[in-house]
Amino acid sequence: MADNQLNQIPHRRYNILTGEWVLVSPHRTKRPWQGKQEKLPTLDKPSYDKECYLCPGNVRAGGKTNPNYEDVFSFANDFSALLPDTSMEVYNEGLLLGKSEAGICKVVCFSPDHSLTLPQMEVSEIEKVVLLWQKEYLELGSMNNINHVQIFENKGAIMGCSNPHPHGQIWAQSSIPQEVEKKTIHQKEYWEKNQSSLLGDYLKQELELDERIVAENDYFVALVPYWAVWPYEMMIVPRGHYQDIEQIDEKEKKSFAEMIKIVTTKYDNLFETSFPYSSGIHQRPTDGEEHAEWHFHMSFYPPLLRSATVKKFMVGYEMFANPQRDITAEQAAQTLAQLPIEHYAKMDSH
Ligand SMILES: [Zn+2]
Repeated sequence: MADNQLNQIPHRRYNILTGEWVLVSPHRTKRPWQGKQEKLPTLDKPSYDKECYLCPGNVRAGGKTNPNYEDVFSFANDFSALLPDTSMEVYNEGLLLGKSEAGICKVVCFSPDHSLTLPQMEVSEIEKVVLLWQKEYLELGSMNNINHVQIFENKGAIMGCSNPHPHGQIWAQSSIPQEVEKKTIHQKEYWEKNQSSLLGDYLKQELELDERIVAENDYFVALVPYWAVWPYEMMIVPRGHYQDIEQIDEKEKKSFAEMIKIVTTKYDNLFETSFPYSSGIHQRPTDGEEHAEWHFHMSFYPPLLRSATVKKFMVGYEMFANPQRDITAEQAAQTLAQLPIEHYAKMDSH
């Protein structure tokens, strides 16, 4: 059956990276909505907030004072979910199994300017964020008991982000988390069978089809993955087969920063709001293995569905069976591809 025929009827799509399925119901997009409306986030924030624990020079809740940093700044979270000096303990009684977990949680401030978000920053400023991610990945990943480094950002109150200051987090830990483990297994299986990158070959197919591509530049491509779960989910994939962000050079770093700006600007432009999302970089574990199978990528999982105030809920069927979506990945990609790459707030002021 051809893909366009499948698109008229309820169907399931396979995620080649995780081995999971998503149910797609293209006929359901016209159903009336009487559900929850979220509050609109506002773009007018001050450049400095004396109450913000991330602004330069301010005292954090833990009692430490932030330096007067001028671009990016990272520090160990004062209320970390993981602690570095956790001893190795195992509890195994009958069918109960528990293991202690050592790790480090860091906060990464993207800018000293409290009012900004990634799409409002200059490419050169985002490059500094990428540089810090590289440095942290290398430093944390080379520690003895750290086998995985997760870089991520929660943007917007709707995503549980408690502070609007532009920042992300890094959780580095001794175990390899399950999302990464799933992706390792599937990439490795493909690599051993084909001696080729699973995501690299997938990217080639997507570029040929050109149905889900949102933006391209010299070294990176942004697309809505075929198996996308979130309505406007996107993925930034490097054209080259790199296992981690540490391997990209100056030109590629600039290209990556540029693509992050394009993706996040398109998001803001979609509903003319500061678009909430969780984004994260998946790359090879730092467990000392080569992991030639790994192809690093950055994913964006945004909750908004049909306007700035209506969000997708992962409930019911999604909790008990598997994720489900109404608009197809192709429709989402088309909408996103057509959006301008200049930020709407800038265009308004012209
Ligand atoms: Zn701040």
